[in-house]
Amino acid sequence: MSRFFTSKLSGLSPYTPGEQPKDQQYIKLNTNESPFPPSPSVAAAVQGEVEKLQLYSDPECTRLTQKLAERYGVDPDMVLVTNGSDEVLNFAFLAFSDAARPLIFPDITYGFYPVFAELNRIPYTEIPLKKDFSIDVQDYLVKGKTAVIANPNAPTGLALSLAEIEKIVAFDPDRVVIVDEAYVDFGAESAVGLVSRYDNLLVTQTFSKSRSMAGARLGFGIGSNGLIADLNTIKFSTNPYNVNRLSAAAGVAALAEDAYYSANCRTIEKNRQMTTSALTDLGFTVLDSKANFVFACSSRIDGEELYRKCKEKGVLIRHFSKERISGFNRITIGTEAEMQAFIQVVKTILEEKEK
Ligand code: PMP
Repeated sequence: MSRFFTSKLSGLSPYTPGEQPKDQQYIKLNTNESPFPPSPSVAAAVQGEVEKLQLYSDPECTRLTQKLAERYGVDPDMVLVTNGSDEVLNFAFLAFSDAARPLIFPDITYGFYPVFAELNRIPYTEIPLKKDFSIDVQDYLVKGKTAVIANPNAPTGLALSLAEIEKIVAFDPDRVVIVDEAYVDFGAESAVGLVSRYDNLLVTQTFSKSRSMAGARLGFGIGSNGLIADLNTIKFSTNPYNVNRLSAAAGVAALAEDAYYSANCRTIEKNRQMTTSALTDLGFTVLDSKANFVFACSSRIDGEELYRKCKEKGVLIRHFSKERISGFNRITIGTEAEMQAFIQVVKTILEEKEK
C-alpha cells in the first residue's frame, strides 16, 4: 500500500479471482466458464461492429436491453445491462443498502459479496448455512435487511425453490432482495417471473456461464422500473459507457440462438451427472448441484492436497481456504472428455496416495 491510499479503504481485502495460468495448457475446471464456444453468429456480429469502434457505445444499450426484455417477458425499463453481473451487483449494493438497511447473505457464498460490502462501507452479516450447506429460509424472514442470495448458491451449487425465494421476497416489501442467478440456466428455477409482482425484487444474470461469454463481460439485472431507474442513477454516475460495442452486439446475437445455448446447458447437466456418479463411486460426498460445477469432498484426501495434485497433473480445480469448506473442491463441469480425464487423474492420485 502506498502512503497515498485512502485510510477509508485501508482494510479492504480484494476479491481473488480463480487462477488464469499462462505457463502451460491445463484442463481448466476452476472458474466455471463454459467449455463451449459462443455460437458462430456471435463472431459475425462482433466483426460487423469492429468498424465502428471509433464511436462510443450506446449508453442506453438499447438493442440488447430490448432483446432481453422480449426474452424475459418484461418492459425494457425493467432491464439494466452491465459489465458482467459483478457490476450490477456492485451497483445494487450501493443503491439499496446502507447502515440503516445492512446486508445479509450466507457465510458460504460468492466471495465478492463481502468485498462489495466493504468497498461501499455497508455493514453486513454472514448467516451460517445449515449443516448440510443449504440455506435456511427462516433466517431471511427478517425485516429491514437487504438480502442477497445466489440461487443456485456458489460454491455449493444448491438451489432454493421458486416458492422459497418468493417467501423471502414477500416477507418484507420494504427491503430489497437481490437474487443472483448467475448459474440458474443449469437446472434451477428463475425468479424473473416474480419481478412484475414484487417491486422489491432484483434478479441478476450473466452471459458468462450458460451463454459462453465470460470474456465479453456482460451481465444484467431485471427488476421493477423503480429499482432499475435507481441502478441507472448509479451507472450514469460511474460509467455511462459500461458496456462496449463488441459485447453488446455479441449479446444480441447470442439471444437469437437460444436452442444452441440450451442444448449446451443440457450437455453440462448430463456431464455433471456423470461426474457426480464417478466421484461418488470413488467415495466422495458430492452436493446436489444445479449449477455448472460440483462441490465435493472426501475423507480419502484433503481438499488442498487434491487441488495441488490435480494441478501437477494438468487439471485445475478450485479450492477455498475458508475453514468450513477447506475439505472441499469446486469442480467446473466441462466436456465429457475433460470430465473423464479429470476422473482418471483423481483415481491415479488416490491410488498413488494409498499404495
Ligand atoms: N455471481 C456468482 C455467484 C458468480 O459465481 C459469478 C462469477 N464469478 C458472478 C456472479 C459474476 O459473474 P460475471 O461478472 O462474469 O457475470
